[in-house]
Amino acid sequence: MVMSSSDDEYEVAVVGGGPAGLTTALYGARLGHETVLIDRGGGRAAMMADTHNVIGVTEDISGNEFLATGREQVQSYGGTFERGFVTDIERTDDDRFRLSTNDAEIIADRVVLATGFSDERPDPPLPRTGKGLHYCLHCDAYMFADEPVYVMGHGEAAAHVAMIMLNVTDDVDVLTRGAEPTWSDETAAQLESHPVEVVHEEVSGVENDPDSGWLEALEFEDGTRREYRGGFAMYGSDYNTVLAEGLGCDLTESGTIDVDDHGRTSEDGVFAVGDITPGHNQVPVAMGQGAKAGLAIHKEIREFPRSTEEIARDGPVGDDEVPAISPHLMATAVAHEGHAGGPREDAAAQNVEAPAADDD
Ligand SMILES: Cc1cc2nc3c(=O)[nH]c(=O)nc-3n(C[C@H](O)[C@H](O)[C@H](O)COP(=O)(O)OP(=O)(O)OC[C@H]3O[C@@H](n4cnc5c(N)ncnc54)[C@H](O)[C@@H]3O)c2cc1C
Repeated sequence: MVMSSSDDEYEVAVVGGGPAGLTTALYGARLGHETVLIDRGGGRAAMMADTHNVIGVTEDISGNEFLATGREQVQSYGGTFERGFVTDIERTDDDRFRLSTNDAEIIADRVVLATGFSDERPDPPLPRTGKGLHYCLHCDAYMFADEPVYVMGHGEAAAHVAMIMLNVTDDVDVLTRGAEPTWSDETAAQLESHPVEVVHEEVSGVENDPDSGWLEALEFEDGTRREYRGGFAMYGSDYNTVLAEGLGCDLTESGTIDVDDHGRTSEDGVFAVGDITPGHNQVPVAMGQGAKAGLAIHKEIREFPRSTEEIARDGPVGDDEVPAISPHLMATAVAHEGHAGGPREDAAAQNVEAPAADDD
């Protein structure tokens, strides 16, 4: 294993600082690997007005607060956070990776893609995101229990989400906004057998509560007005797979990055986690995937135990070879508030600069 020798060389480079990438970076740094996380900002977690479904995190925590705490945690363990956009990743001759950002180059032994996706946004007029316009069924259905709800879209997903919403409310419309439905005949038959109204008129206006900003009603081009508390836009996902494709990673039919149960892609040394991979698009799922990849990478790159083959080749582990952790991460660990017996100030003073403050 190549230990990092300069500021722009790392064992683990994580691209994307949502819940998935932050969790992998936390495991990387806390398991003793020089780790950098590069994030351009934005992303789906940053869109969360409130955080739902995450045990230990109360509903009033916004996505940006959640992410800021995550970045502080990663940095407190000695991980490096860089605000930037990774434009290219290539494999080097010695089987490492060179990541290019707008203004820097980084070399890493392992790469983790946690780049997520963007929800396709319908044309305006639209309610305010998080106050009547929503993109995440399993996050926000709960808040519409017993409320009038719309689902915007004309494909399979819109039809299915409308029927699913009947589990929590009896008042659901699908708004195709003048587009021809593309759902299958079977779905059409299914939809007809559920108490869901399909409205084809285009939306012409939005009425919000002037105090709270929450949606009250939508206006339609035929002059009608329908009251809604909120709804979901179902127009598909734009997956951020450019870097994965450039590295040769296999994609699935739906456009996500194909991974095994530990986030390994089809390319050695390249991992992918979170919304960019198949599965449920939820913060706890993204964090679980991030943790699994972090642990898998640790098993791949940790120095010890040396295998019997390696002992036969390189000899037994010498006293001067342990511990394997870098001086920087060692000093950070013994100075950390979570260190056994409390932080050792001597180590902090001697060896390590305070983790850089977040530049947000
Ligand atoms: C409005 C909304 C509300 C939601 N509410 C909830 C909720 O309450 N509870 C819940 O469990 N889930 C919720 N979700 C889903 C949740 O946000 C996602 O499942 C989760 O954020 C996925 O995490 P991720 O790390 O994979 O991706 P993201 O959070 O999308 O993060 C990806 C990051 O990668 C960065 N990035 C992409 N490409 C590059 C690049 N080339 N270089 C550098 N950085 C890059 C992006 O800028 C972004 O910061 C919500 C989603 C939305 C849209």
